[in-house]
Amino acid sequence: MKKYIEEAEKVLMHTYNRYQIVLEKGDGVYLYDLNGKKYLDFAAGIAVFALGYGNPEYKEALKAQIDKLIHTSNLFYNVPAIEAARKLADASGMDRVFFTSSGTEAIEGAIKLARKYYYKKHGTADSKILAMNHSFHGRSIGALSVTGTKKYREPFEPLMGGVLFADFNSLKDVEAHLDNKICAVIMEPIQGEGGLYPATKEFMYGIRKLCDERDILLIFDEIQCGMGRTGEMFAYQKYQVKPDIMTCAKALGCGVPVGAFAAVERVAAAFEPGDHGTTYGGNPLVTAAVSKVFDLFHKEQILARVNETGPYLYKKLEELAAKEEKIIAHRGMGLMQGLEFSYPVNGIIQSAMEKGVILISAGPNVLRFVPPLIIEKAHIDEMTAVLEQCIAEQSLLYT
Ligand SMILES: *Cc1c(COP(=O)(O)O)cnc(C)c1O
Repeated sequence: MKKYIEEAEKVLMHTYNRYQIVLEKGDGVYLYDLNGKKYLDFAAGIAVFALGYGNPEYKEALKAQIDKLIHTSNLFYNVPAIEAARKLADASGMDRVFFTSSGTEAIEGAIKLARKYYYKKHGTADSKILAMNHSFHGRSIGALSVTGTKKYREPFEPLMGGVLFADFNSLKDVEAHLDNKICAVIMEPIQGEGGLYPATKEFMYGIRKLCDERDILLIFDEIQCGMGRTGEMFAYQKYQVKPDIMTCAKALGCGVPVGAFAAVERVAAAFEPGDHGTTYGGNPLVTAAVSKVFDLFHKEQILARVNETGPYLYKKLEELAAKEEKIIAHRGMGLMQGLEFSYPVNGIIQSAMEKGVILISAGPNVLRFVPPLIIEKAHIDEMTAVLEQCIAEQSLLYT
């Protein structure tokens, strides 16, 4: 592995401090490195591989589509895109879908749609967007502009103008920032990268009400918390608050690069031919994956499983948090949870990896648990046993 890692550090741009392993294959909830070492995966490629690795039906669907047609461009219709859009629309309660090739690109589209809606209504190009502090929406300039974390933004300023930030879970602060130029409020129902902070019920309901009163669009970024992770297909369904525009990616294609933004008809109608486009987006290969993912979610009763394993993980982590005084908070729901420590968690992650468990962080002091959604209780026991050992080792360092 050392040889590859050395080469990688010469040829890849240094935008990540990668863990010092080279992964080669996956099977179910396990990953294997080049030396054949096995890892229990609690990261799922950052909340992507919901169905686990190597699902036979998923692989067959992709292989069959490769043999038929991989790409057409959006100048033509293709059957997988139409079927995938129908399934996403039905699952989300949205009416129209636009497929992209990543999460950040879905955010770009959502911003453009909100601006176009405002432009059509007012005839002026002076709209603003209200986003949340500590949010994360992606790395492209538009998405970065609505990301409320200084370290991601500052080196790349000036960003897109007309963006304001309010405190997450503070209705008062949101209300204080609203005026008649705000075209949309954008937020994650559960902040992921920002440290696993779920919105409160009052916040979700309150924002919906404020937006309704002022004809402001509500955009929910479901890129990480969507696709079953909370035990509902989309996190907003857990709150029973519906957005006007939603974005989705990560687990949408379970590993092929695909995202989407979707909207209710009234809003989607603002887009006309020529307003937005993509060469790859929604190509038959990725949308065949999306379509199969929705079928498999149904067939394998993924939501029911998350509703069993999510609370189980919650209970186990609560027990751990009760025992360890250096764990200062436990947040999240379903299979999207976080433990906040009073010290940086990279030591825990490193030592868990040596013991064959892959964990990731969300900010320096928060361990993030986003396993494949097919995880079983026994895997959760396996992970927490290792985690407990790692914490014991670390507490010798951080006394
Ligand atoms: C990962 C993520 C994004 C960005 O998705 P990419 O596919 O990495 O561009 C946007 N929003 C949220 C909430 C995310 O978790």
